[in-house]
Amino acid sequence: MALDFAKFTKYSKPGPRYTSYPTALEFSDAFGYDEYIKKLQTQDASRPLSLYFHLPFCKNACYFCGCNVVFTSKEEKMIRYIDYLKRELKILSQHLDCSREVIQMHFGGGTPTFFSAAQLDEIITEIKSYFPNFVADAEISCEIDPRHINEEQMRVMSEHGFNRVSFGIQDFNEEVQVAVHRVQPYTITKDAMDLARKYNMHSVNVDLIYGLPFQTLDTFKETLSLALTLNPDRFAVFNYAHVPWLKKTMRKIDETTLPPPDEKLQIMQYTIDFLTNNGYKMIGMDHFAKPEDELFKAIDKGELHRNFQGYTTKVVQI
Ligand code: SF4
Repeated sequence: MALDFAKFTKYSKPGPRYTSYPTALEFSDAFGYDEYIKKLQTQDASRPLSLYFHLPFCKNACYFCGCNVVFTSKEEKMIRYIDYLKRELKILSQHLDCSREVIQMHFGGGTPTFFSAAQLDEIITEIKSYFPNFVADAEISCEIDPRHINEEQMRVMSEHGFNRVSFGIQDFNEEVQVAVHRVQPYTITKDAMDLARKYNMHSVNVDLIYGLPFQTLDTFKETLSLALTLNPDRFAVFNYAHVPWLKKTMRKIDETTLPPPDEKLQIMQYTIDFLTNNGYKMIGMDHFAKPEDELFKAIDKGELHRNFQGYTTKVVQI
């Protein structure tokens, strides 16, 4: 697929993060507590549910990060969060029919695996006590920072039916990793990947980001080649949105080291060509999947959807 560079240049301007829809700009105070409760109570009970849990803690800031994160290493904060989560579930269960089928559940962050195996077990057990009807082929997934995963955590998730994981890589180049404050050697990612396979995570995604400091087309070529050796089922290759006026940690990035727009476009074009030539198909914005992946197959059947969790074959209540 050839990109129309002139069109990209013409419409090049900062916009809201599009990875979630509706985008953050659509959120407003006009939709308050009463509207939320009404929405919960008036849903079509015959439709299945997709659940998202935000586990927001990280130890250190990656400077590119645009997520809603709480940086801490205090155990008591995490324990308190589990308590709040339990209370939230109880309130939710008073307004929503939790006996409905659950066809999707996603743990995002932050770093969900910042919680210990025992804490993850406690959280998932509590969720399932309110939502007992997970369908047999439910998509149950977790975002994982390869620097914070151990076998016990992976085993707990697997035993609870998690079948998908997404690993953050972003870039393998050491200079880039140092500049974004996320040093993650290849072997750490490879070990995490092997662990996911060992515990039967049948869909493994890796995230890369282009547009980071010190990246060039050549360095990103190396990153893509290394990432390919991990044999992921899916790639998500995101464009870095530099918005230091919104995210304080981004101010630590030296803007003079960011690749210019035309180099970013070249990286994007190369990524599309490289992954296409290596057996992946672009299934939509930033996402690539193997032919045997259900997202790939869903395109031809007209069954590919996008919801708040990203691309999916599941249709859920909005
Ligand atoms: S580990 Fe993930 S969520 Fe945490 S700061 Fe880094 S990119 Fe953001």
